[in-house]
Amino acid sequence: MDVTAILDPLNDAQREAVTSPLEPVLVLAGAGSGKTRVLAHRVAWLCGVEGVSPHGVLAVTFTNKAAGEMRGRIESLLGMPAGSLWVGTFHGLAHRLLRMHWREAGLPQTFTVLDSDDQLRVVKRVLKDLELDDSRHPPRELQWFINARKDEGLRAEHLDAGDDPNRQVLIRVYAAYQAACDAGGLVDFAELLLRAHELWLQNEDLLAHYRRRFGHVLVDEFQDTNTIQYAWLRNLAGPGGVPFVVGDDDQSIYGWRGAKVENLRRFQKDFPKTRLVKLEQNYRSTGNILNAANALIANNAGRLGKRLWTEGIEGDPIRVYSAFNERDEADFVIGRIKALADSGTPYSDMAVLYRSNAQSRVFEEALITQRIPYRVYGGLRFFERAEIKDALAYLRLIANRGDDPAFERIVNVPTRGIGARTIDALRDYARANMTSLWNAAGHLASDEGVNRRTSNAVRAFLTLIEALDAHTRGLDLHEQVDHVIEASGLVAHHGKDKSERGDARVENLQELVSAARGFEPAPDSEMRLVDEFLAHAALEAGEAQGGAWEDCVQMMTMHSAKGLEFPTVFITGMEDGLFPHQRSLQDPRGLEEERRLCYVGATRAMRELYLTYAEQRRLHGIDTYGLPSRFISELPGELVEEIRPHVQVSRPYAPAAPRRAETTPSGISLGQRVRHRKFGEGVVLNYEGQGHHARVQVNFENEGAKWLVVAYANLETM
Ligand code: ATP
Ligand code: MG
Repeated sequence: MDVTAILDPLNDAQREAVTSPLEPVLVLAGAGSGKTRVLAHRVAWLCGVEGVSPHGVLAVTFTNKAAGEMRGRIESLLGMPAGSLWVGTFHGLAHRLLRMHWREAGLPQTFTVLDSDDQLRVVKRVLKDLELDDSRHPPRELQWFINARKDEGLRAEHLDAGDDPNRQVLIRVYAAYQAACDAGGLVDFAELLLRAHELWLQNEDLLAHYRRRFGHVLVDEFQDTNTIQYAWLRNLAGPGGVPFVVGDDDQSIYGWRGAKVENLRRFQKDFPKTRLVKLEQNYRSTGNILNAANALIANNAGRLGKRLWTEGIEGDPIRVYSAFNERDEADFVIGRIKALADSGTPYSDMAVLYRSNAQSRVFEEALITQRIPYRVYGGLRFFERAEIKDALAYLRLIANRGDDPAFERIVNVPTRGIGARTIDALRDYARANMTSLWNAAGHLASDEGVNRRTSNAVRAFLTLIEALDAHTRGLDLHEQVDHVIEASGLVAHHGKDKSERGDARVENLQELVSAARGFEPAPDSEMRLVDEFLAHAALEAGEAQGGAWEDCVQMMTMHSAKGLEFPTVFITGMEDGLFPHQRSLQDPRGLEEERRLCYVGATRAMRELYLTYAEQRRLHGIDTYGLPSRFISELPGELVEEIRPHVQVSRPYAPAAPRRAETTPSGISLGQRVRHRKFGEGVVLNYEGQGHHARVQVNFENEGAKWLVVAYANLETM
């Protein structure tokens, strides 16, 4: 075995971790310090030097893609295939175990894994069986409750409602939901983990077997494990075990989904002989990027504390671009991408990161116009998202009653009591009479022989579509879209889901209104605007998306970027309220998690980091005038270069003291009273910029201080 291949590419601290004696190891280290590299080399060391069989190693990664890469790295270090090595995500590994031990897990051999939408469907059915009103007990809330309990390792029978009637209902639904899943052999994502955990608890022999087999358990991104994942792991390792975990408390970004950063401390308690290794040299980023990231994260309290340094070059400053609006932001980013590509940089070296999925649309449209290939990771492209397709299906059916796929898609979305059997009957009738589903529905609605509830439900749907049609005629395109998403019930339907996902769906729907408002038909088009818009959406969904292997611009949320690296990174939408996200602003813990997310985003960059924000942004169908994200002002000024063409700004972001009797370039005086349509009355405190970019800070009586772009704010002087 050639040990040099394993050890040479490591620094001293990394080598210490890789070659540690067989005892529990926690590698606690910042971004880009080689944690993932150390994990791969440790496996190679164990197999190549310690004589461990790959059969005895289990490695946990955060995504399936990372698992594939990890296996590849290990095999190339070992110089041989390691097929019997288990590498995967917690969910993937749990699934594999349950498939092998379905009997011990109390599952039928043919059990089915439910995705989140399937799970919701079961929850709804259970609500109906229990005769509970789903407007009082929103199914998505129940789904969230069930998953959160499972993530904590709790079954319905472990829960006590006390006198709380609402909680009694939640627990009753949880129990009935689980009974339904058990009867049908259905396993949701959270159940995979919980069952795998129970598999250990209920089968001592099996656990003993796997403890013997997997003498070596390794975990990447350990800071984002949740309660049940950690419990599963601890049991598998056993009291005398030697787990090897790597993580970074500063990159814990899944607290909202139950991840417990405390597991880092817990690990050291549960495995008292743990050797703690810290890595401090960063190999990924330039000095400026690293120092900026260090300064940012220093604003968080309660860190385990570490400082990263690099031997690398200082590099370019962090470039901050203040865009005029979201389109200008996209134009700027795409301009830079083109310039880089022209000078020979592959597209795949560039990543556009954003806080929420809805932000991708403006970039996607600009990239398509410029014919630049791109790929959206960890989320569907805008026009492929389910809620957007639903909304478009309404528009399609309004435009063309013969559009059967659109009919099928929305006839029972949101739920309106039209079940699968009715839809089958419609299909049969339509087929037999060579007509559309719409006509079949018209027939069924007036058929005396049909169950009253069914015919009423179908009639209600037909009436809804007719009403939408009548109401939207003559409206502008964006008004049509706005009316349809509201009156169809889609917004209310997703609004009931109080999780991030529900919010994201409502935001996406509202973003569709923005898309419609900004839509420009081809100059020579003779189509109706709505038809052209629909065609545009359909084509955009199917085309232009680059494959994984193609050279294309990488687009993803900051959450999906964890663990990855790119030479050039654009973090976009750096505005307070967007990033940090609105809902975290009031909550210090939430704000710290957002800051960690920003740290994750910034530390993805190897050579160049751009931060962009828009002074005015239309997102989710609403115009906002945002302040630059507080995270920008947390970066040391000397590391930042502002790019604001045609404008000189020398003022810091923090509001300066008001200066009286000075006149802003746009003719508004400091100290002057002004009125804004939405924010009401206030006093002008400050200004910056000139011309198109001129902004004033107004202290509104009810809304507090806000920066507004003068050209857009329509301020009335008083
Ligand atoms: P993250 O916290 O973002 O997951 P990480 O700590 O897992 O980062 P790696 O992805 O393992 O860091 O390494 C970051 C980069 O530095 C990679 O490109 C890796 O190949 C490189 N690298 C790590 N260690 C060394 C080293 N000793 N010499 C040269 N390059 C290194
Ligand atoms: Mg890593």
